[in-house]
Amino acid sequence: MTEPVKIKKPRGVAQLIAGACIACGARCQSVCPVNCVEMTDSGEPIIDAPRCIGCQKCVKICPASALEMYFTPEEQKILAELAASAAPVEEEIDPEAAALARKLAQYSGVWVFVEQTEGEPAKVSWELLGVGAELAAKLGVELCALVIGEKVEHLCREAFNYGASKAYLIDAPVFFHYRTEAYLEACCHLIEKYKPEIILMGATGMGRDLAGAVATKVATGLTADCTGLGIDDKRNLMQTRPAFGGNIMATIMCDKFRPQMSTVRPNVMPMPARREAADGIIIRDDFTVPEESILTKVIEIIRDTNSKGAVDITGADFIISGGRGMMGPDNFALLQELADELGGVVGASRSAVDAGWMPGDRQVGQTGKTVRPKIYIACGISGAIQHLVGMQDSDMVIAINRDKNAPIFEVATYGIVGDLFQVIPAITRKIRELKQKK
Ligand SMILES: Cc1cc2nc3c(=O)[nH]c(=O)nc-3n(C[C@H](O)[C@H](O)[C@H](O)COP(=O)(O)OP(=O)(O)OC[C@H]3O[C@@H](n4cnc5c(N)ncnc54)[C@H](O)[C@@H]3O)c2cc1C
Repeated sequence: MTEPVKIKKPRGVAQLIAGACIACGARCQSVCPVNCVEMTDSGEPIIDAPRCIGCQKCVKICPASALEMYFTPEEQKILAELAASAAPVEEEIDPEAAALARKLAQYSGVWVFVEQTEGEPAKVSWELLGVGAELAAKLGVELCALVIGEKVEHLCREAFNYGASKAYLIDAPVFFHYRTEAYLEACCHLIEKYKPEIILMGATGMGRDLAGAVATKVATGLTADCTGLGIDDKRNLMQTRPAFGGNIMATIMCDKFRPQMSTVRPNVMPMPARREAADGIIIRDDFTVPEESILTKVIEIIRDTNSKGAVDITGADFIISGGRGMMGPDNFALLQELADELGGVVGASRSAVDAGWMPGDRQVGQTGKTVRPKIYIACGISGAIQHLVGMQDSDMVIAINRDKNAPIFEVATYGIVGDLFQVIPAITRKIRELKQKK
């Protein structure tokens, strides 16, 4: 028996119906997979017909039905013959692309992992719900919390207060302490079952450990330490982070695998507003892991007593940071005096830390802490990109530098060009005077 001859169905090319375009904002251009749509100044599309692959995406998205498919007379004849006969037709679209689109379409929803230690949530989880809500709104999908632990149902309700509409909860004694194996199995179980398209985790010790393990097991991509997240016109997550030693900002996409996974450091995203007693749905899952199967046992938790006197710069409202321009460790006393007047803390650039002038926990920047104070005063800091990524989202930045071309002035709300050894004592004096007058 001979195989029936397959006839290739003509795909045609898109064309504009004269006078029908309403200049909706280039939706046709944004969906074109081969970039063959150019826009005129008046917002109408010009279609490069030889490059058009006849996918019809622009025709389908046009809100004014101003685009149609054009078929040559020969193509019209083939279409008519096909319609009249029962001849098999070749798959109309690229089968590989169609299979990928079908795979990706199975995934939906933005998930935020709610990190907790002994039931205490990490603030970064709520920050991630804030940015997660924006992503979910753009995609038109649900924002969900992923809560794993023992006796942690209260965290689902708190996640609703910060914007989640659903929480996936795995609550069992084996999850009381964080252990990679147990949390990994629990996460992968839920991912396999509910197929989220995006998962966000804090770039903390726990989040970094878990995200890497999960991404490896579910065979997807992970972008660590993102400083910006958005959605492109093909529903992909745009994950922006410093790359090549912080010299460029790279936007990374994971367009062939799901879920798309990112970690974000604490204080990078703003804290969303909290709504009291917000509603949401809790999906309880009785998944558990036998204790015997976990190699890691937590015998005792020993708190770090060395960090007793340590200052947590990430929570401060006022940070006065010094860089190489401070010229030596003793001069940081000037910054401490100002910090005391403002009720703030002293931070440092990496150069100051590397020189041994300040301890490592004061370092602000890419390899230090990310801070978001009300006021950040940068003294004798040039403003290298690695420093800026750690402080540029502060509510107000005041820069003091004797070099008027220092890059720090590009992110400063107020810039003082001058010698910090004169400027800082003058500011401190002025604040004291104002306080006395009160
Ligand atoms: C992978 C990588 C990660 C990094 N991570 C970090 C990080 O986390 N944090 C970080 O800070 N850096 C980081 N760095 C280093 C960063 O590139 C810069 O080298 C560093 O931030 C410079 O520190 P600075 O601004 O104190 O020193 P400098 O760049 O030397 O600037 C000193 C500034 O002080 C000014 N100045 C001098 N004297 C006075 C005065 N009397 N009055 C006023 N102004 C004065 C000068 O005009 C100058 O602008 C990283 C680098 C790499 C490659």
